[in-house]
Parts: sequence; structure tokens; C-alpha cells
Amino acid sequence: MAGNGVFAEILDGEVFKYYADGEWKKSSSGKSVAIINPTTRKTQYKVQACSQEEVNKVMDSAKSAQKLWAKTPLWKRAELLHKAAAILKEHKAPIAESLVKEIAKPAKDAVTEVVRSGDLVSYCAEEGVRILGEGKFLVSDSFPGNERTKYCLTSKIPLGVILAIPPFNYPVNLAVSKIAPALIAGNSIVLKPPTQGAVSALHMVHCFHLAGFPKGLINCVTGKGSEIGDFLTMHPGVNCISFTGGDTGIAISKKAGMIPLQMELGGKDACIVLEDADLDLVAGNIIKGGFSYSGQRCTAVKVVLVMESVADALVEKVKAKVAKLSVGAPENDCDITPVVSESSANFIEGLVMDAKEKGATFCQEYKREGNLIWPLLLDNVRPDMRIAWEEPFGPVLPLIRINSIEEGIHHCNASNFGLQGCVFTKDINKAIMIGDAMETGTVQINSAPARGPDHFPFQGIKDSGIGSQGITNSINMMTKIKTTVINLPSPSYTMG
Ligand code: NAP
Repeated sequence: MAGNGVFAEILDGEVFKYYADGEWKKSSSGKSVAIINPTTRKTQYKVQACSQEEVNKVMDSAKSAQKLWAKTPLWKRAELLHKAAAILKEHKAPIAESLVKEIAKPAKDAVTEVVRSGDLVSYCAEEGVRILGEGKFLVSDSFPGNERTKYCLTSKIPLGVILAIPPFNYPVNLAVSKIAPALIAGNSIVLKPPTQGAVSALHMVHCFHLAGFPKGLINCVTGKGSEIGDFLTMHPGVNCISFTGGDTGIAISKKAGMIPLQMELGGKDACIVLEDADLDLVAGNIIKGGFSYSGQRCTAVKVVLVMESVADALVEKVKAKVAKLSVGAPENDCDITPVVSESSANFIEGLVMDAKEKGATFCQEYKREGNLIWPLLLDNVRPDMRIAWEEPFGPVLPLIRINSIEEGIHHCNASNFGLQGCVFTKDINKAIMIGDAMETGTVQINSAPARGPDHFPFQGIKDSGIGSQGITNSINMMTKIKTTVINLPSPSYTMG
């Protein structure tokens, strides 16, 4: 159970503590933030509302701890990460239970998220040992006008304190995808978990604590993003921000100082379906891509663009599969579970009502109870409807009928997002040409968009992000190149 056994020390009465300087602490603010269970709509947990003074102290200890950590041999850093990964997997049950209670993640998916996170931490340790153990050696005479009088050595050095801010939908996985690369590269971490998802994240942090990382190296401050977010992101002690979430990331990138930013933001992933596509394959991927975790995934299929000639057949196949989706509580491992909050459910409903007023065809009856919204496919969506462009982050999927490939590509590229997209066709040449024309960070051919496997590069263009994630890219992004130039008194050529 959450907050029990080895996790007992992270709980004080009914409020979970925050983690700073290697210890679990109560905030001096005396205030707490409630986490509402999306299913019961009642307070499930409480976390500390950390103060600005506490953030200042955390930044100081993160800075001091980082200086020592940067001098810790790479193999030792990797060893500790492997240990944390094993502890995380060992304690998957209570962490998964928190994911079920605070973000209504279906029970099996919650366990998968924790196990995948352990694997990510281990992979990161191994990749770090490989790529950080290598540098470059350059000689000066390759540039015109130079003799071989200079040897240049390059290596990768840490940035310092990394501020990690993940979103609610993968509070464990998207936290470790920032923490592990930061640590292997010799940085320290200040984690600000999403409020919905904070308790799962605190349990995950405790696994790193149990692994024995030095004091102050990993810190986790809780509180509402709207209250402490700006103070954190504009803090002079932060040397890099790795953020995943919605439009908040755009605001942060305008306010942050001259530091590297890694931003993974929203998406409106288009699924282009050509006349020759295998429609059973498409329908299966639309269900998996559009409705897993009730559509609350950055890479969910968020608009289907299907050629008119096969649209009727595809809609029938998708409808048949939607009818089989189970709807209910995450504890029962239902396919469709309540969305994260009442405001999110209201937002989704607003998109549905707008589409209704403007004449979309409802393939199922719209049904909502509290935060639970039944899966809905909207056919005959047109570009004047909000749902054609906005990200519902819920189990509602618009379908637009197109008459040419160009029309599909145009719709995809007219979006302000550019995360992923997918194209279904048996013609690989067409798939590649369409994929190249789509203005997105990734294109999947004959499969729904997806963030994993976690070592693949993952990036968005336009409002979908800055930089690239994926284990290797994140390690590189959280380092800086340092060069040392050896100047010789006279030219020297090997074997010369
Ligand atoms: P969000 O509202 O942007 O919140 C993300 C994080 O930012 C949370 O930890 C939040 O804390 C924090 N935050 C809020 N205001 C802040 C501020 N002023 N300064 C600093 N941090 C602040 O996003 P969400 O609702 O959790 O997640 C859904 C969004 O994430 C969707 O748009 C989805 O597409 C996107 N997403 C993108 C990816 C990707 O890799 N591209 C992956 C997953 C999700 P609080 O919870 O305390 O407010």
C-alpha cells in the first residue's frame, strides 16, 4: 500500500513529505495540496505545498551535491542507477496503486509504467557509460592554413542543476526519463512532479533514496505549478529545464533564462489512411492509438484523415471495436477510465458540443458520468470545428474525410502542433513521400504514433517542442562539450 512498509517514512500523518538534502521533510508553510481521485472525485492524498524559501534551500544543496557527484566515477554513477532501477521494479505494486488512485491509470498499465521506468533507468546507465566514456580528437592541419601544431580533445561535462517537470499522464516514466540521463551525466536534480501524480513520483524518488545516492543530489519539491512553477523555472540556480506538458511549456520557454531547454509539449497527431490500406490494421491502431489511457497520451491519434472511398468501411470497423471497449474504474483495468479532472472533462465536453452544433456525425451516443466519458468517434468532422485542431486529451476522436493525399498532408501541416503522425498504405514509396511531407518530429508507417521504445529519438516541431528526447539525446542534451587544446612548439605528424 502507498505510504506503507519501506515507504512509511515519506508520509507524515495524512500528508506526504517532500524530499530535500537526502531527507523527507514537512514544509514550514503548514499548507498542503489535495490530490483528487479522478474516479471518486474525493481527496485521495495530500502533499506539502513547498515555500519559496524551501526551493532556495533545495537549489543550494543541489548545487553543492552536484560538484561532488561530477567527480564520482562514471561506473559508480551507473552502479547506483542500476540499483535504483532494481528497487523501483521491486516496489512496483505500491507505486502502481498510487497511479491508479491519483490519475486513474488502468491497473495493468500502471504496473507497466513502473517496470518500463526501471528498464529506462538501467538502459540509461549503460548508454551513459558508453557515450560519456568517449570524446573526440581533432588535429589542426585539416583546416586550411594550419600545420599540425594543435591537438584538440573534447569531452562531455555536466550542466549543473537540472529542473525536471513531468506531466500528469506518466508521472513516473516521464520523471525518470529526465532524472536518469541527468544523473548519469553528472548533474543534480530538482524534480517538481505534477500535482496529479505527485504521490507516485514521491514513491519513485524514495527508491532512489533507498539506492543510496548522495544527499542533495536528488530533490523533489511539491506544490501547485501555478504557485511555485514560475519561481522554480526562473530560479538563478537552475542550469537546464527539462519539461513535458502542455502550453505551459511555451510560457516557460519565454520566461526562462539563457539555459538549455528540453520541451516536449502537446500534439494533434494525424493518422492518414490511403485507399489501399489494410483497414483491419488501421482500425486496430486507431483503437490502440486513440483510446488507450482514455486518449490522455501526447502521442494519441488525435485526428483521422481518411480517403472518402474507404471511409464508410473504416468507420464500421472502428465502431465495432469501440463497442467492445470496457468503460469503468481503473482498479478493474477497464479500457476507458475517468479523465484526470472535472475541468478536463468539461473541456472535452465543450469540444464535443461544438462539433455537435456544427453538424458532426456521432457514431456513438455522447455519455458522461462525473469524469468518466464514454469513447466517442465523430465522423464528418470539418475544419471549422474546434475538435479538428484542438487536443481533447480524452476518449473522443474526430474523423475527417479527405479526397486527396494533398488534403490530408495540408490538414496535418496546418496544425500548430508537430509531434508525430502516421500513414497507412501498402505502398512504401507513397508512405515515405507522405511521411517526408508531414511537418512532425516522427512519422510512423503502418502503426499508431508512440513515444517508445524509450531509446528512440522523440521530438516535436512547432508548438510541440524544443530539442529531442530519447535516452541518448537526453544524455547529450544534459551535457556541454568541453575542449582542451594542446599547442605544440612545432608541427608534429604521427609516424612522420
Ligand atoms: P501541464 O498542465 O502543462 O502541466 C505539466 C507540468 O507543469 C505539471 O507538473 C504542472 O504542475 C507544471 N506546471 C503548471 N504550471 C506551471 C508553471 N507556471 N511553471 C512550471 N510548471 C508548471 O500538462 P498536463 O496537463 O500535466 O499534461 C498534459 C499535456 O502534456 C498535454 O498537452 C500533452 O500533450 C502533453 N504531453 C506531452 C508529451 C510529450 O512528450 N510531447 C508527453 C506527455 C504529455 P501542476 O500539476 O502542479 O499544475
